[in-house]
Parts: sequence; C-alpha cells; structure tokens
Amino acid sequence: MEGKLNLEGFYSFIRDSFSKTVTDKNTNIIPLALRTTAIALICFFLPGKMFAQQQGSSLEISHLTGDFYVFTTYNYYKGNRIPANGMYLLTNKGAVMFDSPWDTTQFQPLLDSINARHHKKVILCIATHFHEDRTGGLEYYRQLGIRTYTSRRTDELSKKRGMRRAEFLIDNDTVFKAGQYSFATYFPGPGHAPDNIVIWFEKERVLYGGCLVKSVEDSDLGNLGDASITGYAATIKNVQEKCKQPKYIIPGHNDWTNTRSLEHTLKMAQELKQKNQP
Ligand SMILES: [Zn+2]
Repeated sequence: MEGKLNLEGFYSFIRDSFSKTVTDKNTNIIPLALRTTAIALICFFLPGKMFAQQQGSSLEISHLTGDFYVFTTYNYYKGNRIPANGMYLLTNKGAVMFDSPWDTTQFQPLLDSINARHHKKVILCIATHFHEDRTGGLEYYRQLGIRTYTSRRTDELSKKRGMRRAEFLIDNDTVFKAGQYSFATYFPGPGHAPDNIVIWFEKERVLYGGCLVKSVEDSDLGNLGDASITGYAATIKNVQEKCKQPKYIIPGHNDWTNTRSLEHTLKMAQELKQKNQP
C-alpha cells in the first residue's frame, strides 16, 4: 500500500499546513474549500478504486482541553472499521503519549503531526493494557528513543501473547511527573483485560480510561475474550471511587465527549455479571 501511505502523508501535510486556521475542537475538520482542493488533487492522481479507500482520515487529532489532545486511528475488527482513541499531553519537557495508534501506518505520522502542530517531540509513551490497539507502537517508539512504559502485569501478558513490549515497567500504581504535569497510573482490577490500567489527572480531572471504559455509543462491552465477566463491575466501581468527578473521560473506542461513559460501562458490566450468575 505504498500509494496509500504516500497519499496520506500528503493529505496530512495539507491538513497540518492549514490546521492553524482552525480553532480548538475538531482540528481534524478541513475547511471546505481546502477539502475540495484536496479531493480534486486526489481524484487527479488516483484511479477511482483507490479514492474510495481514502474517504475518512486515517489519523484524527482533536483538542480535548488545555494541553490535552485525543488522537484516533482505525483498524478492522470482525470486518468493521473501528476507531481507537489515544491521548497526548503537551508539557514543557515534551509530549507524553497514552497508548499508541492502532493503525500501524500512523505511528510516524502521529509524531510528525505533534511536531508540526506544537513543535514538540514525544518523550514518553505509556500503554494501558497488552492488546495491540494499545501496545502496537511500543517497539517503534522505543527505537526512536522515546521512553516506553507498561505495567509488569501487561508485560507478562504481552510476552505470552507475542505483543510489543515496553522498555520500562511499573510494578505498582505510580505517579509520573512530566514537566509541569503529574498523573497517576491506577490498576483498578481486571475488567476488559486482566491488566487494564487507567490514567488519572487529579488536578485537571481528566480520566484516560482506555478500553476498560466503553463509550456511551457502545451497546455492549465489546471484545470479552480476555475480560473478567464477574469482576468487571467491581473494577469500574473502583475507578469511580478513585477518580472522583472527572470532567473528561476518554474511552478506548468511539465517542469520547460524554462523561456518562463510566456509569454506562458499569451498567453493562452489572448486566453481564447477572447474566452469568449460576
Ligand atoms: Zn481496545
């Protein structure tokens, strides 16, 4: 897919060049005139079949609040194109990334976009559980000198399941300091996966939930292949106990603009437990 890669680089170049004119939320939205130009150029360079694959951006970056940004890439699960959310934070020491893109073609474009938009290098990347939509880029980023982290629990599962592994491991819930910011990693118990952690910015009240937290758009708990059917609900309650009154909650997939996602997840987890009671 050489053509796809090159074109996307070109497309994101256009977007980045003009993104300064777009404010705040939804910086991925390209002004209409520009979009028309870009589409015209794409049509000019590509046969129709390839054009069909270009609809919808491969990497979307949206402003969350302050120095917080959400990035979204896409991949296929059971034949459907599914978005996966990650987050990055700008600090005066560099950018910190929470989970890597799911789409492996976007590892470098994400770094390039952060550099182009904010003139920041990514200095640290933490993956919140062992699945590839979180850990996929760890090896790539480690080779570029970015400090990569997972919990030891995640590392053990990654090793067993052939996933990418981080350079540094955390044994317990840890408070990280990055420039002017600090945040806590918190393991609330098994839920979506045996090793899922959340990231809590207590001062800013930003909860990065990862795949443990489902979006209000989701009608079920998704991939339960590694989930704790009986423990999920208690784990969500632990998150609610630890992370009080979050202003923002970022789930691993789908819409992240609604803070009812945690309650919504709890409800589904309680139903799951009930259904599976002997
Ligand atoms: Zn996921």
